[in-house]
Amino acid sequence: MMEKFYCPKCDKIFEAEGKKKGWQSSLFGYCWKLVAKCPNCDKECDEWRPKGSSDKESGNYCGGTCSIFKK
Ligand SMILES: [Zn+2]
Repeated sequence: MMEKFYCPKCDKIFEAEGKKKGWQSSLFGYCWKLVAKCPNCDKECDEWRPKGSSDKESGNYCGGTCSIFKK
């Protein structure tokens, strides 16, 4: 499935087939997000989200797509 990703280095949005990357967070437990390699610079990039999709509540967001917020 094609998803949109954003490369901060190239300042570009690209489409790719993402892969799931999981990690263990001491705050949030198990988290995961989709990542894909930028076709230009080969950097591993996060999924792109439209502005205003409400992440990043004062740093309590785990950084993944699981959207778990610290209570
Ligand atoms: Zn790039």
